[in-house]
Amino acid sequence: MENLSAKQKMVNIFKKYGYYVILGFLALSLIITLIIVAVNDNNKSNVEPTSTQVTPFMPVLNATLYKDYYGDELTYNATLKQWETHNGIDLQVASGSSVYSILDGVVKDVYSNVLEGTVVVVEHDNGYTSCYGSLDGEVNVDVGDNVSRGDELGKVSSSATAEYDAGAHLHFAMFDNDNKKIDPAAYLNISDNK
Ligand SMILES: [Zn+2]
Repeated sequence: MENLSAKQKMVNIFKKYGYYVILGFLALSLIITLIIVAVNDNNKSNVEPTSTQVTPFMPVLNATLYKDYYGDELTYNATLKQWETHNGIDLQVASGSSVYSILDGVVKDVYSNVLEGTVVVVEHDNGYTSCYGSLDGEVNVDVGDNVSRGDELGKVSSSATAEYDAGAHLHFAMFDNDNKKIDPAAYLNISDNK
């Protein structure tokens, strides 16, 4: 009988407090879930920027910044003798120097014309596009080729006759994932020497 009454006591206690025990348990699991979510979010924000922000490879090595990017302002073109915007940067370097893809990507276009010389256009995984102008006509890539960061695309020349005053150079332009021109010097973290 003593046993029974002890059991009965337990049942009564549970009836009286069971609701609170369950409520407490639910609250505890909710807190644990929130902590796990918070920790995962923290991990994500720690990992994502480093995994997507690959340092770009320099399109040419040991070059001199001859002309800056003028997206909205005008700059004087000494060859064409006119004021105009400049959608890229001119990197002066010896003729025949290697030109490298700044990031992994796919070759979207290869073309030549009198004013720009030979141009290779590469679209990258982040949606940005890089354009390499004033190249020698003999390039290493075709449209549709996959290229890796640091792959040689072609060689520097003075084929862009619209920028003849720059001599042998790479005209390097970039577009963001909305296809808007951006300052490549800022993207490549090239300091302004002027
Ligand atoms: Zn240029």
